[in-house]
Amino acid sequence: MKLPAPANNYSRPPFQSWGGYPRLSAEIRPLNWTSDFPPQESTGKSMLAVGLGRSYGDSCLLDGGILLRTRGLDRLIDFDQHTGLLRCEAGVSLAEILDFAVPRGWFLPVTPGTKYVTVGGAIANDIHGKNHHVAGTFGCHVPRFELVRSDASRILCSPTQNADWFHATIGGLGLTGLITWAEVQLRPIVSRKIDYRATKFRNLNEFLDLSQASTGVEYTVAWIDCVSSGRNFTRGIFMQGSHASEPGVLAPSPKPRLSVPFTLPAVLLNHYTVSAFNTLYYHRQFTREKHAFVDYEPFFYPLDSILHWNRIYGKEGLLQFQCVLPSLDDTRGITEILRTITRSGLASFLAVIKVFGNLPSPGMMSFPRPGITLALDFPVRRQATFALLDKLGAITLEYGGSMYPAKDARMKASQFQAFYPQWQQFSRFIDPAFHSAFWQRVTTHE
Ligand SMILES: Cc1cc2nc3c(=O)[nH]c(=O)nc-3n(C[C@H](O)[C@H](O)[C@H](O)COP(=O)(O)OP(=O)(O)OC[C@H]3O[C@@H](n4cnc5c(N)ncnc54)[C@H](O)[C@@H]3O)c2cc1C
Repeated sequence: MKLPAPANNYSRPPFQSWGGYPRLSAEIRPLNWTSDFPPQESTGKSMLAVGLGRSYGDSCLLDGGILLRTRGLDRLIDFDQHTGLLRCEAGVSLAEILDFAVPRGWFLPVTPGTKYVTVGGAIANDIHGKNHHVAGTFGCHVPRFELVRSDASRILCSPTQNADWFHATIGGLGLTGLITWAEVQLRPIVSRKIDYRATKFRNLNEFLDLSQASTGVEYTVAWIDCVSSGRNFTRGIFMQGSHASEPGVLAPSPKPRLSVPFTLPAVLLNHYTVSAFNTLYYHRQFTREKHAFVDYEPFFYPLDSILHWNRIYGKEGLLQFQCVLPSLDDTRGITEILRTITRSGLASFLAVIKVFGNLPSPGMMSFPRPGITLALDFPVRRQATFALLDKLGAITLEYGGSMYPAKDARMKASQFQAFYPQWQQFSRFIDPAFHSAFWQRVTTHE
């Protein structure tokens, strides 16, 4: 590990998604001002706006077109200290919002497992966080935004103004045009600290009992061991937290100091190393239950302290699988998925499970819906990983679930169209000049 070179873009050229698979090349056009779009000249090429490339698969990629890099649209426009309503350009990252808002006593309404995503990316995937069961998705906290189309028309979108465009663009996979700015309703805090509790569970049923008992807690999520079998099958650690109610420090976060400097050999990550990691991780907590006040950084962003951690997966990259299965009473589907993963011997140590709540997502194509969601990484080992993901997709479909496009590079067209039967209705909102490798894959017949 070494100290990283100063960089405020947190990602590397050429533009890749977080999984590094697939590798596609497109022309990169940086946008620094909202007036840079649409381009003066017509190229006839497909376009797609991108943020920080924290989507794992190909939803932020194009094969041969123009990627409109939005990180230059990084201005905070307006902030009401009394209400916490922030207006900013779409290339502003959640890390930058936190740097600005935390010292003023405000926090993100919803945050994913990394703060290195842009506001535009958060809206386009209608992201979710550990508080989904009480707060819904990111889009639930976006009262207004502007959408600019390739014909230069500007559409002000809110639940009451151009509502159909509002619902199509939230979770709209970046296909409806360029989001130039958005309003985000922040939530108040009085301290950086999180009142944190971690409880070990021995199996899926205990996980569900803990989830049921903590529906009033603001943040809940669990790490689950997807490698061990036998009596350790589906053991894990259930983590819950709430913003501390006692006033405390409200300073901005220090910058990350560690970075994986180069892509590591893929052989380092294998069944034995992951299995050893999982055993250590599970047993590093001696007691069944642990209670502490912790800083929000390690609670929300445990991996952000090491830049480029995805390089540990080797040069072939990684694939993520995230599904949601609807029933909490019937666990046959999730058990079958977990058993299939365990048997494959391919799972990494990064596996999380959570119960989504039933607040409706505002996006026509949003992924979150009530049920159990499971997300985990796999190193790309070509046919073995692809065959496993095909199987997991088939089980998800069989049990009436869905898969998350932001994490996907393998879903079949038939699966996507069954998970999102509204996709044709959504297609009417797609900007004729916009396209993505993901959309190409899931709307072209196999
Ligand atoms: C470690 C890690 C943890 C994560 N945890 C979670 C999690 O807990 N929950 C969750 O929901 N997701 C999670 N994600 C996924 C991530 O939050 C989403 O993929 C997010 O959309 C990435 O944002 P981005 O700025 O990097 O956008 P990109 O990945 O670059 O693009 C994402 C999508 O947004 C579109 N887009 C970007 N900017 C604009 C714009 N200005 N106008 C129109 N469209 C635009 C793109 O076209 C693309 O479709 C995680 C990712 C990582 C790497």
